[in-house]
Amino acid sequence: MALIREKDSKRLHVKSKLMGESLVGKTFLQSLEYKESFRILPDVSVLKIGGQSITDIGAKAVLPIIDEIVENAGQHKMIISTGGGTRSRHVYAIAMELGMPTGIISKLGQSVSEQNALMLSTLLTPYGGIKIGHDDIPKLGAYFRQGCIPVIHGMPPYGYWEHPPEEGRIPSNRTDVGAYLLAEVVGAKQCIFVKDVDGLYTDNPKVAPDAEFIPKIGAKELMDRDLDDLVVERVVLELLTRAQNIKQLQVINGTKAGNITKALNGEHVGTIIYKDV
Ligand code: ADP
Ligand code: MG
Repeated sequence: MALIREKDSKRLHVKSKLMGESLVGKTFLQSLEYKESFRILPDVSVLKIGGQSITDIGAKAVLPIIDEIVENAGQHKMIISTGGGTRSRHVYAIAMELGMPTGIISKLGQSVSEQNALMLSTLLTPYGGIKIGHDDIPKLGAYFRQGCIPVIHGMPPYGYWEHPPEEGRIPSNRTDVGAYLLAEVVGAKQCIFVKDVDGLYTDNPKVAPDAEFIPKIGAKELMDRDLDDLVVERVVLELLTRAQNIKQLQVINGTKAGNITKALNGEHVGTIIYKDV
């Protein structure tokens, strides 16, 4: 990038392709060439531990998962990302009754996913668990060098700036989105959603027992199907269609022993949703 000096004012400018552009022009943006995105932590797996689907079940679901994470810690580098769950839903309901704006509701959701991060990191502390926050992302490399298992709350940091959703006031960027975007920005090896169902079905299997299991599906295809209910937040599907690093994710049943290990080893044990555009 060349430095140029204005003739009259003698001011220095950095000459670049972006100079003087609004960065909004469609044809201009399409004309830009990008280098491939740098993968910061390509050997790390992001594991999202469901709030409602796992943590809320308590010891019965959580403790075997902690054991499985610890068993795998020698072979796999993992970032544990936590969901919110029933306490989030409780506070969302009260907040809606009180007329809270979406940005406030998002902050409330963040504090609940932090509660779960504190509990899971505490259980992992004897094995190198460390609770981290959003500003600690640049320290991850050093943490992994020391054998740590970082635990982060899943809620993405939009907070007060959370976008108003299409419908109602519940933030559409919640902990599934946060876990996915974290995997995307660090260029992780994979992103695994640990929940209490075998993966994606044509409908919520807890209320529709005849729902059919879908082992693998494209994100765009799934959006086009417009299913009434989903196992992951809808925004994750949109993000997958624009993925630069994480071009597929897997939803697995963490209440079945061995699934986390298999998924970490790259086996297909749940539903894989992939970038299909
Ligand atoms: P988390 O706690 O990980 O955020 P959620 O409870 O929000 O998990 O989402 C997982 C739940 O989604 C499952 O337990 C299941 O009951 C429900 N669900 C709704 N629709 C579907 C679907 N189409 N396929 C599978 N599960 C679904
Ligand atoms: Mg959820």
